Formats: sequence, C-alpha cells, structure tokens
Amino acid sequence: MKVGVLGGGQLGRMLALAGYPLEMRFRFLDHKADAPAGQVGELIVGEFDDATTLDRFAAGLDVVTVEFENVPSSALKRIEDARRAPVYPPVKALETAQDRLLEKQLFERIGLAVPPYRAVSSLDELRGALDAIGLPAILKTRRMGYDGKGQIVIRAAAEIDAAWKTLGASRELIVEQMVKFDREVSILGVRGRGGEKRFYPLVENVHREGILRVSRAPASGNIASLQASAEQAASRVMDELGYVGVLAIELFDLGGKLLGNEMAPRVHNSGHWTIEGAATSQFENHLRAVCGLPLGDCSARGHAAMINLIGEMPEAPELLAMNGAHVHLYGKAPKPGRKIGHVTLVDQDEKKLAARVNEVRKLTPSESPSA
Ligand code: AMP
Repeated sequence: MKVGVLGGGQLGRMLALAGYPLEMRFRFLDHKADAPAGQVGELIVGEFDDATTLDRFAAGLDVVTVEFENVPSSALKRIEDARRAPVYPPVKALETAQDRLLEKQLFERIGLAVPPYRAVSSLDELRGALDAIGLPAILKTRRMGYDGKGQIVIRAAAEIDAAWKTLGASRELIVEQMVKFDREVSILGVRGRGGEKRFYPLVENVHREGILRVSRAPASGNIASLQASAEQAASRVMDELGYVGVLAIELFDLGGKLLGNEMAPRVHNSGHWTIEGAATSQFENHLRAVCGLPLGDCSARGHAAMINLIGEMPEAPELLAMNGAHVHLYGKAPKPGRKIGHVTLVDQDEKKLAARVNEVRKLTPSESPSA
C-alpha cells in the first residue's frame, strides 16, 4: 500500500512510523521543505491549490488521507474526481471541521449539546448575540483557528468593540458562552470503510493558553456513563458523515453532562498516548481504516499520561534516564508555543502515574511549576 498524506507535520510523521511495520509506504505534500514528515518519507514540496503539484503527489498512490484539516476541499476533490486515489476521511467531514458553525450545527443535529452560541457577521449582531447569551463569552473566527488562535475572551461590555476590531475583519465569526466546565475530555473513535467502529477510552485534557499541555487516559473517576454518551455522539457524527479513519471530538464535562466543542477529522494530539498506552495506536488504526484493513483493539494497557513538549527543548537525556518515559521528538526547530515533541508514561497505578507526570513536568521548560 502506498499512502499519500496531505500535510507533513508531526502527525504525518507518526502515521508513517506506525505504517512501516505493515509494509506501507508514504508520500507527503507540504508547503514547507523542512516538514517533519520529510525526515521519514518522500516529501513533495508545494501548495495544496496547485493542480500540477496535486497530480504529481497523487500519481501511483493507493489511498490519500490528511494529517491537517485545513486542506482546501478543492484539493481533495481534484484527487478524487480524477480517480487517482480514494480520499479518506470524506471531503464533507473536512468541510464541516473547517467551519465552527457547520460543526456546531452537526453536533446539534445528532443530539450532542453545545455551549449557547450565535453566528455573527457585524458589530451590531455581536452586541445582540451577547445580550442573548451573556458574558463572559468567547468570540471565535469560524475558520482557520487552532491552538487558541483566532479567538478572544470578552469578559465585560467595554471589551466588545476591541474584540470586534481584532477579529471582525473576517465577518465570519461565532460567539459562544464561556461555560464553566469541570474538565475537558476527548473521545477518539475509528470507523472502517465498511462502517465498523471502535472507540478509545475517554481522555482527560489540560489546556493552557488554548494549547493542550497534558492528556490522561482513561479519564479519572467512574466514567462508564460518560464514555457511553461520548461514544454515542461520536458514532452518530461518524455515521452521518460516512466517516473513514480516526475522528476526535473535544468535549466539555459539566458535572457528567457533555457539551461538544470541536472535532478533528484526523489523528489528534490527545490520542498520542495510544502509541504506548493502547493495544493499537491511533496512527495504526487510522491507517488500517483508510486502507480497508480490520481495525485494531482500542483498549488501554493501564493508565497513560502524555505531556506535550512546547516551545523549548527539554534535557532529553534526563527524560530518557527516567524509567519508562517514552520520548517522541518531532524534528522541529523550537519556537515559543510550538509543539516540538511529547513524552508518554504508562503505569498500572493511577497515583504512581500522577507522581511520575510531575517528575517529567519538572524537566520540561514550558511545564515546570514556575513557568
Ligand atoms: P478551541 O480552539 O475552540 O478548542 O478552544 C481552545 C480552548 O479554549 C478550549 O480547549 C477551552 O479550554 C477553551 N474554550 C473554548 N471554547 C470555550 C467555551 N465555550 N467555554 C469555555 N472555554 C472554552
């Protein structure tokens, strides 16, 4: 199987590393010549909207997938229409995930509640929406937001004009109530070409400044009923979209009630723990799904934690000296706010795992208690 991946970031790199034992080969398309996946697979450097580049990329591939959700749908359609290779997940899933409004409407349609929100395209509409949903609220661009970018918290009426000045130019925004959640969780599921589905245990996520810092799986506490409702929601979303591959949905947990925040039609940062912490990693399962192979077991091998390495490179030898610390570096130059690697720990004992997570955080500059 020769797999084409649109995007050449760390997710693509980890897909390739998971696919090699299954004799898969990889070609990536990215606009950056130093894309991390280029160190482990063939890389074509070019733009997603360039027809010649797309044709060169797609030639001879058995299947095409994405590791980045903001691939223009025109690129996916060109590859599909020319029958060069099937594209999974389906274009509709990408189009939905690229627009926060379509995403929320889909969640509501399948019965997953979302924070109260309004679509807004003028300052007057924003004022009206805030009268209805109240403060504090978050103004978000509908498109191209990630890791907390393209969003502003509005805490007081005096901040409305400034927020609009910063983001209003796009005219395509949503404003949503800032909910007081107990915690953030995510559900990762995988759906095969024939519609079969499997789900990983619910993951508990800690974000700071909009960026994921730490994930723990399975999420703490008695999660049986939360797991069931998250699976039901993800299952309906996947069926509705005719989805193939791994899908992640980020959720807010408010005292046992789940609200949908956003979805990622790809492998997800909150699923990196599955490499060492689950029977089959999210990367392998995504490849199995898009290649039409049987799906793998998603069960956890104990308690796992994943700590992101952000901005600054830690002392890798010190991390490696810790028993059972699995260090993944992405081959990216350090830059403030950039995800450059992660560390995973697995333990049969939840309390021991928590102590080990603190040890790792002491060694990681962006996560040290003083940071
Ligand atoms: P997003 O890009 O939508 O995932 O937002 C990034 C982070 O901002 C989330 O992981 C939450 O921590 C926070 N956030 C986003 N939307 C809301 C909301 N409606 N209420 C409270 N916190 C939110």
